Amino acid sequence: MKADPEVQRRLLELQAHDSALARLEHRRRTLPELAVIAEADSRLAALRDDVVRAETETGDLDRELRRLEDDVEQVRRRAERDQQRMQSGAVPAKELESLQHEVETLTRRQSDLEDTELEVMERREEAESRAAAVRADVSAATAARTEAEQARDKAFGEIDAEAAADSAARAELAPQIPADLLALYEKVRAASGGVGAAMLRQRRCEGCRLELMGAELRAAQAAPPDEVLRCENCRRILVRTPESGL
Ligand SMILES: [Zn+2]
Repeated sequence: MKADPEVQRRLLELQAHDSALARLEHRRRTLPELAVIAEADSRLAALRDDVVRAETETGDLDRELRRLEDDVEQVRRRAERDQQRMQSGAVPAKELESLQHEVETLTRRQSDLEDTELEVMERREEAESRAAAVRADVSAATAARTEAEQARDKAFGEIDAEAAADSAARAELAPQIPADLLALYEKVRAASGGVGAAMLRQRRCEGCRLELMGAELRAAQAAPPDEVLRCENCRRILVRTPESGL
């Protein structure tokens, strides 16, 4: 294949933009903030169960407390009624004893219920502090996520601006290269890790870093300037410049 040496050198410019685009794309994909966001997401997903559990627990204990309060109130009112009846003097003597007995039972019952109420209140307090800890974890993870998101968006903005500049330069450059050479460049680039054209610098292929020697070197030295050379080792398009050392 033949191509004007100036056009061949333009391939190196094109390669520089393509390499920059590949680096930017890689940076976009591997931003550390993305890992932070993913970690926060899985943390939040795990905490979601804890939040539900904590809320269920405090809700259950609240209901239990209300039930106990109602029970205490009922027992207290009944004991009060009994007391009033006893004090009214309208109760026959034989009933007085059983009423007295009932009041004692009710008093014991109230005291038991109040003990249970205290226990439940303690458990409610513990459950509430667990729930508060979970909520604190959730807001810490949410804050970390938000911060990482902002940093990610800022980095995306910078990357996209750089990529837009490289894409524009590439779009301007590509039509200046003959279709057959451009097609070869694209083919090699796809097959060779994103590098289709490499400079020959000090007799070394900058694509694979191997130095040209023997017959290959002699062939490169003898090749007319418009001959499109390929590295025999990596098959990349080898572009000669004044630094090629031939
Ligand atoms: Zn090479």
